[in-house]
Amino acid sequence: MRVFVTGGAGYIGSNVVKALGGKGHKILVYDNLSTGHDWAVLNGDLIVGDLADRIFLDNVIKAFRPDAVMHFAALIQVEESVREPLKYYRNNVVNSLNLLEVMRQNRIENLVFSSSAAVYGTPEKVPVNENALLTPINPYGYSKMVVEQILKDLSAAEDFNYAALRYFNVAGADYEGKIGQAYKESTHLITRALKTAKGEFGELKIFGTNYSTADGTCIRDYIHVTDLAEAHCLVMDYLLEGGQGGEFNCGYGHGFSVRDVVCAVKRVTGIDFKTEETERRTGDSPILVADNSKIRRELDWRPLYDDLEYIIKTAWEWELKLEAKVA
Ligand code: UDP
Repeated sequence: MRVFVTGGAGYIGSNVVKALGGKGHKILVYDNLSTGHDWAVLNGDLIVGDLADRIFLDNVIKAFRPDAVMHFAALIQVEESVREPLKYYRNNVVNSLNLLEVMRQNRIENLVFSSSAAVYGTPEKVPVNENALLTPINPYGYSKMVVEQILKDLSAAEDFNYAALRYFNVAGADYEGKIGQAYKESTHLITRALKTAKGEFGELKIFGTNYSTADGTCIRDYIHVTDLAEAHCLVMDYLLEGGQGGEFNCGYGHGFSVRDVVCAVKRVTGIDFKTEETERRTGDSPILVADNSKIRRELDWRPLYDDLEYIIKTAWEWELKLEAKVA
C-alpha cells in the first residue's frame, strides 16, 4: 500500500514508518522538521513541508496518490498548550482540516489519526473505555477531541474511514536502537528521569504528591512505542479491508505512579539521582489507564513489550546514543 505519513520524522511517526517499511509498504513522509529529524525516517522518502501550506500539500498528495494517510504531525506539550492555546488550535486543528480537505479533493478515504488519552481529562472510571464522556482538561486534549469530532462527522457524511488511536503514555525506543525520543525539550517523565540520571539536570521534579492515589503521585499507563507502531499497521489494514473505524485506546491496561517510574529508572540505570517534590503541574489528570479490550478484540492487537523495565531499558540505551545523533 502507499501510505502518506504526516509527522513521520517525529518520535512515534518514525517508529510507525519503520514498522510499515518492514511490511513492504511504500511510504512518503511529510514533516516540517520542527521537532522531527531527517535521520529518523528509515523507510520511504521525506518531503519537508508544512500542513499549513495547502497548495504544496495538495501537489505532494496528488503526485503520491496514497491509499491511506497517517496523521501524526501535531504539537504535544500539555503545559505549553495551557500557555499558548491558539498555537495548539492552529497547529492541531486547523492543520488537520487542511489535510482533510486536501484528502477529500484527491478522494483519499482512509485516515489513521494520532489521538490521545488527554481527550478523557479526568475520567470517572479507570481503566477508561472509548465510550467514556470526553472532558479534556487542557487545550491539547481539546484540540485532539475537536479533530476526533470532525472525523466522526465527516465519516457520517461521506465515504471516509478513520481510526483515532488514543495513545496513553508512549515511551521506549526501537530494539535496534535506531530511533527514539529525540526532542530536546521533551518534558515526558521517563525522558526527564533518564536525562537526570545522565546528569543533564540536577534533579527530577515530581509534580504533585497529594493526588488521591496510593503514593500521592499521578498514575499513567506506559506503552512501548514498538507495540504502538504495530497497532497502527493493524488498524490501517483493518480500515483498508473495510473494518469499522472509530476510536481505539492504546495502552496496556495498568498503570505506574511517578514514584514507581523513578524507582524503576534508578534500578535500570544503576544511578541514584536527586528528586524534588514540587507543586502539581497544570493540566495533569491524576490517573489515566486504558481499557484496551476494544483494540485487542477488534484488531487482535497483542502487545509484546508490556514491561516497564524493558521500556526504560530501551529508552536508556537510546538516550546514551542520542548526543551523537542530534549533534
Ligand atoms: N512528571 C513529573 N516530573 C517530570 C515530568 C512529568 O512528575 O519531570 C509527571 C507528570 O506530572 C505526570 C506524569 O509524570 O503526572 C506523566 O507526565 P508526562 O509528561 O510524561 O506525560 P503526560 O501524562 O502528561 O502525557
